[in-house]
Amino acid sequence: MSMDDKGSKAPRILVVEDEASLARALQLELEHEGYRVEVAGNGYEAVARASEGDWNLILLDLMLPGLDGFTVCRQVRQRSAVPIIMLTAREATGDKVTGLDAGADDYVAKPFAIEELLARIRARLRRSTPLHQDGNRLAVGDLVISRDTRQVERAGRPIALTRREFDLLAYLAENAGLVMTREAILNHVWGFDYYGETNVVEVYIRYLRAKIDEPYPTKLVQTVRGVGYTLREA
Ligand code: CA
Repeated sequence: MSMDDKGSKAPRILVVEDEASLARALQLELEHEGYRVEVAGNGYEAVARASEGDWNLILLDLMLPGLDGFTVCRQVRQRSAVPIIMLTAREATGDKVTGLDAGADDYVAKPFAIEELLARIRARLRRSTPLHQDGNRLAVGDLVISRDTRQVERAGRPIALTRREFDLLAYLAENAGLVMTREAILNHVWGFDYYGETNVVEVYIRYLRAKIDEPYPTKLVQTVRGVGYTLREA
């Protein structure tokens, strides 16, 4: 990822399509929607690019020179949970099953209306993505945390957190999907030598919810009764 990209928060989409005119048309449409788009023209390039980038979604053509779309999908899936939408001219339902078995999240048959494809992309980007990390950046759903700059944003809007709130959120995000006990949170975020109020975790969870969840329809901070807390979409 180049330095130029650091400031830009638009979702990044990798378009894997060997038909140059279609790839170009898709790129223009997607860029018009505000996405950052790059194109890979064959299966080998797709696998290489998929592993080097911090992608939010991959549009993957099925019929490709080199590796076909199924193979690309399986190889990408071994290393990444990035959403994958398959594109294909084939009508056979067997391909859909094979595509989903290979780890694709969705499937759009060519020829498609661009509006339908855009709707599927939006839906997929909204949906819960499992913990996605590039070492510095943590993302859960539309919540993005940058550890080096200690910045947090949700749905593209910056959220100001105190230092402790940030540490709590980052700890939950690092363990997204796992239930963290109050004790684990207390020890990690406040330290083993903390002797303050025993309900400090509950209090800070409340602060955090007010900032990152209350303004949004989808809640990310989940209470697991009698156990602790987890960060995930529903
Ligand atoms: Ca093709």
